[in-house]
Amino acid sequence: MDLRFTDEEVAFRQEVRDFIATNLPAETRERLQSGHHPTRDDIVNWQRILNEKGWAVPHWPEEWGGTGWGPVKQYIFREELQSAPAPEPLAFGVYMVGPVIAEYGSEEQKKRFLPRIANLDDWWCQGFSEPGAGSDLASVRTTAVRDGDHYIVNGQKTWTTLGQYADWIFCLVRTDKEAKKQSGISFLLIDMKSPGITLRPIVTIDGGREVNEVFFDDVRVPADQLVGEENRGWDYAKFLLSNERVGIARIGVSKERLRRIRELSASEHASDGTPLISDPRFAEKIAEVEIDLKALEITQMRVLAAERAEGKGKPNPLSSILKLKGSQIQQRTTELLMEIAGPYALAYEPEREEGSNEPPIGPEWAGLSASTYFNARKVSIYGGSNEIQRNIIAKAILGL
Ligand SMILES: Cc1cc2nc3c(=O)[nH]c(=O)nc-3n(C[C@H](O)[C@H](O)[C@H](O)COP(=O)(O)OP(=O)(O)OC[C@H]3O[C@@H](n4cnc5c(N)ncnc54)[C@H](O)[C@@H]3O)c2cc1C
Repeated sequence: MDLRFTDEEVAFRQEVRDFIATNLPAETRERLQSGHHPTRDDIVNWQRILNEKGWAVPHWPEEWGGTGWGPVKQYIFREELQSAPAPEPLAFGVYMVGPVIAEYGSEEQKKRFLPRIANLDDWWCQGFSEPGAGSDLASVRTTAVRDGDHYIVNGQKTWTTLGQYADWIFCLVRTDKEAKKQSGISFLLIDMKSPGITLRPIVTIDGGREVNEVFFDDVRVPADQLVGEENRGWDYAKFLLSNERVGIARIGVSKERLRRIRELSASEHASDGTPLISDPRFAEKIAEVEIDLKALEITQMRVLAAERAEGKGKPNPLSSILKLKGSQIQQRTTELLMEIAGPYALAYEPEREEGSNEPPIGPEWAGLSASTYFNARKVSIYGGSNEIQRNIIAKAILGL
């Protein structure tokens, strides 16, 4: 198995890097580098810049804006975005509902939704999880009952990321209560402005406002917003989740954070006045994470090499290792940042309200390090929790 990038892939990486360097707005890059989340405008503007270049939806069918890149180029592209750092495309449209509509949607749905997703004219959110249906997603209880040319939807979704900006939500709904769990589920596209939808924010441990609860109270949804066939939603959901694999290890994010850790620990001083990086114990911690990240990168290359050899196909259970190790490494980098910040991390303020003129205590990056640390707890939960990944590894890789 040849794990090296080809000359063409190396040249492609440089092309992507040059494009990002020239076109990414400086204020967006600075915001991300200092540890802030991208704003809604950062994400929308960047998506439109990518769309103009023809790179908004590389993995989609070419007819709908795809570039025809294979898995390796897609990986390189995503890693370059992460390590720039640039905002990543809004996953809910670009990686989730877009490919589902392209694969299973009607022609009308494709024409109506796909170009608007590519240009981020519509902001999508994901309505899968419910109280009582997370890891065990097939337990969804939100119902959709057919009434003439509409469905009437009742129930609740939760953990809906960035739902506060959303124009549309794609939902798993129960259309057949009698059928076996997975068989009675459908995939419905719902306009967030529909009467009967209420959105309530959930404030996260870092003080952030990125997740929500969404309530559906007799919401009338035109039946032509059903994707594919009624009661086949579980198949489409599985297809969607397999697409989530691209870039799941978030190696570029960890690389960028490690670069920052090296930079800051060379300029921040320990109590004896020497730079933190010259403390052998601290340098050892950085080295440990770097070694793990290198090992993860090699595993990523093995997954890509297998895909390159076999073509895009069935989900590779090795991607569970990518998710598991990738999330652990991301979390460790946030711990190191906190360690560099020292007591300033304690004085953390949750993401300050816009317009607040309270000055941060200590350097701004240090004030943000604790909220970054708290926020990163989520990465071992979403996209399939790490316990679920361990189950997959045990069964599919270790044969236990
Ligand atoms: C920040 C954040 C954003 C999210 N965004 C979205 C979103 O936009 N849209 C959406 O639909 N969902 C979203 N989710 C939901 C996410 O997919 C679920 O949280 C996740 O699937 C876990 O489900 P749960 O929270 O119900 O926990 P549960 O499934 O109840 O699990 C609780 C605990 O039990 C463990 N566990 C469960 N089953 C097993 C098992 N079989 N073996 C071993 N251990 C097990 C889990 O690992 C976990 O530690 C988000 C979650 C978070 C934290």
